[in-house]
Amino acid sequence: MTRRTFLSGLAGLVTGADAVAASKPSASRADRVELPESEWKKRLTPEQFDVLRREGTERAFTSALNAEKRKGTFQCVACDLPLFTSDMKYESGTGWPSFFTTLPDAFETSTDYKLLYPRTEYHCARCGGHHGHVFNDGPAPTGKRWCNNGVALKFIPA
Ligand SMILES: [Zn+2]
Repeated sequence: MTRRTFLSGLAGLVTGADAVAASKPSASRADRVELPESEWKKRLTPEQFDVLRREGTERAFTSALNAEKRKGTFQCVACDLPLFTSDMKYESGTGWPSFFTTLPDAFETSTDYKLLYPRTEYHCARCGGHHGHVFNDGPAPTGKRWCNNGVALKFIPA
């Protein structure tokens, strides 16, 4: 290959890396909410900020939404995007609200290496706020467990 095509290839790689670093905000949603961290800090409680903007994890069994059994919709507490319905929720026994699937286009994912093994982190497709991790030990029909921090959710009864 010529030097020119090599360089343009490199430029493509760099762009790709930038895109990954900025993967919370891909340009896919027209209604994306992008705010400076200082603004999120004002809008969110410290607990919400830690989870949504710092990829923190709430302590297990601390969310009232664990026991939420009514019909309704679970929204992103930061931007109100509908994420799950009550029909998608199940009792996983983990101490975090768990769902076997999500509403379409609710989340984007990335790989997180905070623990010894890679995990699939997921975040709100509208505001980029971190919600939890998705695992492959969920129930039928998907086999997925979307393990969500309750503090990142807002429940709207039907
Ligand atoms: Zn959101």
